[in-house]
Amino acid sequence: MALLAGQTVVAQNVKKDSATLKTISNYILSNYDCYNDLRDLCKQIGHRISGSPQAEQAVLWGKKVLEQTGCDKVYLQEVMVPHWVRGEEQGMIINKKGMRSSIEISSLGNAVGTGPQGIEAPLLIINNIEQLQRMRPEEVKGKIVFFNYHFNQTNINTFESYGPCVYYRWGAPSEAAKMGASAVVIRSVSSAFDDKPHTGSMSYNKKYPAIPSVAISNLAADKLAKEINTQGAMRMYIRTTCEMLPDVKSYNVIAEITGSEIPNEIICFGGHLDSWDIGEGAHDDGAGVVQSIDVIRTFMKLGIKPKRTIRAILFMNEENGLRGGQKYAEEAARNKENHILAIESDAGGATPHGFSMTMSREQKAKIKSWLPLLLPYGIYDFTRDGGGADIGPLQRKFGTPVMELLPDSQRYFDMHHSANDVFENVHRRELCLGSVAMTAMVYLVSMYGL
Ligand SMILES: [Zn+2]
Repeated sequence: MALLAGQTVVAQNVKKDSATLKTISNYILSNYDCYNDLRDLCKQIGHRISGSPQAEQAVLWGKKVLEQTGCDKVYLQEVMVPHWVRGEEQGMIINKKGMRSSIEISSLGNAVGTGPQGIEAPLLIINNIEQLQRMRPEEVKGKIVFFNYHFNQTNINTFESYGPCVYYRWGAPSEAAKMGASAVVIRSVSSAFDDKPHTGSMSYNKKYPAIPSVAISNLAADKLAKEINTQGAMRMYIRTTCEMLPDVKSYNVIAEITGSEIPNEIICFGGHLDSWDIGEGAHDDGAGVVQSIDVIRTFMKLGIKPKRTIRAILFMNEENGLRGGQKYAEEAARNKENHILAIESDAGGATPHGFSMTMSREQKAKIKSWLPLLLPYGIYDFTRDGGGADIGPLQRKFGTPVMELLPDSQRYFDMHHSANDVFENVHRRELCLGSVAMTAMVYLVSMYGL
């Protein structure tokens, strides 16, 4: 009898939960507030790198939009962030006959500039790091190293191709500096075949000189590689005035609905408010920001009372410092908060297929048991490990279970960190489906714990 009664309760819950998820989905797809929010963020504010006036506007905008949901608490969490500015950029390719043709360049984030005179030097094409490491320093000294490492087009999950390429943006410039190079130019870390350079963070190994480092588009890289291989030696001129200014004060934006039964158990979710300073940061990560806002808004609009506390975080400075994510984890420790789950949306605004998860086997099993409830919304992939950069510090500090929304990845790296990452390249229904998936997951964990 007890077993039968238990089964009846479960069946009733499934019916009730599936009805609630349908109400959530209907609300989001018919109102598409997240899409309107994204338009405001991208078109009224635009790109918003840490320390910029636009980043500050985005903080105020996020606070205002969250306050308008009428949720229990909205507050700013102060954090000091790096302030890197791009300045002017000019690139030229000089052939054997001395003919100069211009090439579009984009400084890598956190890079030093060339100084007002610029740098002109012979180009040395390098296809992978092993090739550079086999060379003698005198072959590299004084040259501009051109890393022509290709994005692997054969991976179905494009994030698997992104990882190995990022090394050429993040770490390889210092390897070239170690050999005496005067500057570095990289092939864009991107799946695209177009003429847009893709920027992104780099970091210097302090043991070697900090040298200017820029990206060129994949089409420009193909053309340049072909010219070097057919015509022989080329020279390049680079002039960049980017620089790192002193840190400035900024904020994470936080909003929550207090749990009605177990308020000390927190489920947090978020995206990052800062973006690169080209394009509009629409997929990266305007999408994650507006989806996180949408979770709070949808609970409020539909009058859903979470048993546990749910909290949206619009993180600052994911792109070139991760200070917001670090600050959030520090404050969570100071306030002795108990996060039972952290979810990030920072993989674009395309159609979601599932969530990556880093947590215990039992916790994964619990999440997977909700598959029948989530399947109607196209959420089925729970096969990958992973969380996200901003919730990484929380995971490392406390072992907090983490998840990341997994949108379709086919187009993401075409646009990522480039002038093509604009509002027009985000699809309304696809973005909304991400909000639905996030809200559904937050709802289930807020009701049943983890
Ligand atoms: Zn991002």
